[in-house]
Amino acid sequence: MELLKNRIALRWRRTKIVATLGPASSERKIIEDLLKAGVDVVRLNMSHGTHEAHRAVYAQVRAAAKKLDRHVTIFADLCGPKIRCGKFPDGPLKLTPGEEVIIDPRVDKGGPGLIASQYKAIARDVQPGHRILLDDGNLELRALAIEGDRVRCKVIFGGLLKDHKGINLPDSKVSASSLPPKDVADAKFAIELGVDYLALSFVRTAKDVAGLRRLIARAGADTPIIAKIETPEAMDNIEAIVQASDAIMVARGDLGIEMPAEQVPLIQRELIRLGRRHNRAVIVATQMLESMIDHSRPTRAEVGDVANAALTGADAVMLSAETASGKYPLRAVEMMDRVLREVEGYQWRQGSFLGDEPASHLELDLRDGVANAATALAHDLKLQGIIIPTRSGTTARVICSHRPTAPLIAVSTNESVCRRLALNWGVVPITTTEAEYRDPQTLCRRVARSCDLTRTGHSVLLVSGFSDDVARNAPLLQILRV
Ligand code: PGA
Ligand code: MN
Repeated sequence: MELLKNRIALRWRRTKIVATLGPASSERKIIEDLLKAGVDVVRLNMSHGTHEAHRAVYAQVRAAAKKLDRHVTIFADLCGPKIRCGKFPDGPLKLTPGEEVIIDPRVDKGGPGLIASQYKAIARDVQPGHRILLDDGNLELRALAIEGDRVRCKVIFGGLLKDHKGINLPDSKVSASSLPPKDVADAKFAIELGVDYLALSFVRTAKDVAGLRRLIARAGADTPIIAKIETPEAMDNIEAIVQASDAIMVARGDLGIEMPAEQVPLIQRELIRLGRRHNRAVIVATQMLESMIDHSRPTRAEVGDVANAALTGADAVMLSAETASGKYPLRAVEMMDRVLREVEGYQWRQGSFLGDEPASHLELDLRDGVANAATALAHDLKLQGIIIPTRSGTTARVICSHRPTAPLIAVSTNESVCRRLALNWGVVPITTTEAEYRDPQTLCRRVARSCDLTRTGHSVLLVSGFSDDVARNAPLLQILRV
């Protein structure tokens, strides 16, 4: 009996899986297999690939989701002010500790002792003594002197530097525009395509998010924004950034270069808490199953990392190169799914998905107070599910932040709202008709039956009426016998 109950309640995995698509996962067959294996959210990474390639993948994902009758979030990830070095026409540059090199933004080809960079203001942002990290932090320089537009540096940690590798300036205040021309073009393209979210890289302040928001509005859309947290400056402004965005990503790849790597695990935990407190989804990203790029099995440490993200309450966990260019994209998703289900089975048996944060630590406003009560009610009365008719998705986002144990079904007339909700922890989005929506009780009974929620009991909780506009909050809780 207990086993059966577990199976029913955990039919839906609560923590969502994000897969980055790329050369290893662009064909229809693999896309369909990835969705079947449990991918809820797809990332199109604008740092790679042409618009035409992204357009084709987008169409394939939509077609596969339709065939499988699933709501899948698709988001486009904008490059942001990522600084890169130029080309080395004569092959990779060998950097030896102790030697001096020049970074020159006026040339586009590097060579012995010379690194080209398209970033014009590098000599303005960098000061003597600042660190300059290359190739994901594998190589390190220190600025010695500013010489006009150029920066003279000393090599601290050497190695081979290849074309177009990233440059991180953890000690400098980078003045580059938060939306370079390429991002403006990519954003317009992605909005026209119809993506469900836009992710913005290297967000530094809430103003960066507001800038993208204006661009989206000018394009006549209301696409929500995922702020990627990957710089110390973002951490200094984190409250305002979270409030200005619709979701956040713990972008551990760049964050772990820009900040001491040992700080990343606790930052991750804090960001998950903060996101929950503001009803914003939090995606934990990068290197989650990194070794599966080349190997059919992950390291035990990677398995622990995925488990930890789920245990501490992440909304979603992300695969990058594992699914975009790795050898085992499908196995990586299957592995992630298994780890998450194992953790969630444990949480279910413990009777709580709340992670390490007691509910009472949340600052309660009216919506959170009601959501808290709804969560407790569903748990204490062993209700079979929480069903949320929602126009904008807000009620579902608030309720899911409280991590109820009962399955969470969001019902909306709007396909786009349903697709966006596929990112949020535990939310199972379902579409309905306008006529059905106007009779919430009949709607809930129908949904409860079609989702097969009544195998071990007969009551569900209907919750509706939350708004982002405080004056329009009209929460409704109703226990319905099905
Ligand atoms: P990226 O962002 O993969 O676009 O760099 C994620 C990260 O930095 O972790
Ligand atoms: Mn990044």
